Amino acid sequence: MLAMNISFDNTENAFAYKTDKELKAAKFLFSTMGYPWFVQLGTRLTPFIMKTGLPVHGIIRKTIFKQFVGGETLEETAFVGEVLGRYGVQVILDYGVEGKEGEDNFDHATEEFIRVINYAATQHNIPFISIKVTGLARFGLLQTLNDAPRLRSGIHDHESEIAEWDRVRERMYAICEIAAEKNIGVLVDAEESWIQDPIDRLTMEMMELFNKEKVVVYNTIQLYRHDRLHFLQMSHQIARQQGFLLGVKLVRGAYMEKERERARINGYASPIQPDKAATDKDYDHAVRYCVEHLDKIGLIIASHNEQSNLLAAELLNQKNISHNHPHIHFSQLYGMSDNITFNLAKEGFGVSKYLPFGPIRDVIPYLMRRAQENSSVSGQTGRELALIRKEIARRRQAK
Ligand SMILES: Cc1cc2nc3c(=O)[nH]c(=O)nc-3n(C[C@H](O)[C@H](O)[C@H](O)COP(=O)(O)OP(=O)(O)OC[C@H]3O[C@@H](n4cnc5c(N)ncnc54)[C@H](O)[C@@H]3O)c2cc1C
Repeated sequence: MLAMNISFDNTENAFAYKTDKELKAAKFLFSTMGYPWFVQLGTRLTPFIMKTGLPVHGIIRKTIFKQFVGGETLEETAFVGEVLGRYGVQVILDYGVEGKEGEDNFDHATEEFIRVINYAATQHNIPFISIKVTGLARFGLLQTLNDAPRLRSGIHDHESEIAEWDRVRERMYAICEIAAEKNIGVLVDAEESWIQDPIDRLTMEMMELFNKEKVVVYNTIQLYRHDRLHFLQMSHQIARQQGFLLGVKLVRGAYMEKERERARINGYASPIQPDKAATDKDYDHAVRYCVEHLDKIGLIIASHNEQSNLLAAELLNQKNISHNHPHIHFSQLYGMSDNITFNLAKEGFGVSKYLPFGPIRDVIPYLMRRAQENSSVSGQTGRELALIRKEIARRRQAK
């Protein structure tokens, strides 16, 4: 068995990349996010305030943006990537623009993704980029395709919709093709369940084309959905039959409230697991399944859950699989769970920060999700704050 001496409590490793000043700023931010009423108010008001042109850019930039985003431009973000690299931490670059509709915007996003891939190929620690299909396709089109998923050619009312979907496929193909050539992985984010089916099928199509010898394209599986463990197994079966490698990024899922609310309003059964324990059970089951089939599955554990990360690390050790095996990778969002990322890196695991970048107004939806996720005192905020406080105290004592 490989030796492993991992502790997610080691805050010295976790925050070595942060100065005292940065650590204090993080403490202030997480303390503020500990007030759910404040976060609720902020997440409702910020999108409107941004539209009014009030001078809030500066405040956002220095606080929540700095904590969770690499920069407004690729050039700015390069600096953060370089700092992470010094600690053996890799980067998943995410051009974090969301919710921009229109063919011109989709073409522009495609160009931007290609620019990011070309940049990543020049760096030693950026093995992946992430993309959202809603950055390349109209939400309404994805929803139409989702509602009649098995009738691909017959569902369109107009010729124009067929042409529109073909353009989405071309954009996706262009991104994956250059990524394959430059040896950069493409992680396709999972989104709302009512548009996910065409995203899954498009991603599988790309895997079939590009994942022959190595894993270039990865789909995302949200284990907060009760049907996804089965979906993972089906995807694996299809990959085996068609002779390609399956790439998967395992997440719990980011849209739980929205999913439940929509199901309730429209009177259909919620796709979400009955409780957190059920999500955790399926997540860990999926981890075990993928590690069991690591010869044909490229796995990314995308989670802040200490138990799930530890489980994967221990499974690798038990099976004598090397910590930097090309088919296994760990990832946490930039600004969160540094205790997991940096301690895994110390043990030689392939681990990265998911690092978004983009103009402030464009990354607002991402920032609002981070604020909400960090707003419950019992959850992530409590953990982050406790770790930050511990490290501040440790540094004070060490002086
Ligand atoms: C690198 C990276 C990439 C990501 N990419 C995506 C993506 O493409 N798509 C996406 O949707 N999300 C994505 N996420 C976010 C992810 O889905 C989770 O929201 C987030 O990471 C929290 O889950 P966790 O595993 O870290 O930990 P935990 O804190 O253990 O779990 C919290 C999660 O558990 C689930 N949960 C909580 N309460 C309940 C309940 N009552 N019933 C059922 N389930 C419950 C929810 O999913 C919640 O977010 C990504 C996260 C990372 C780190």
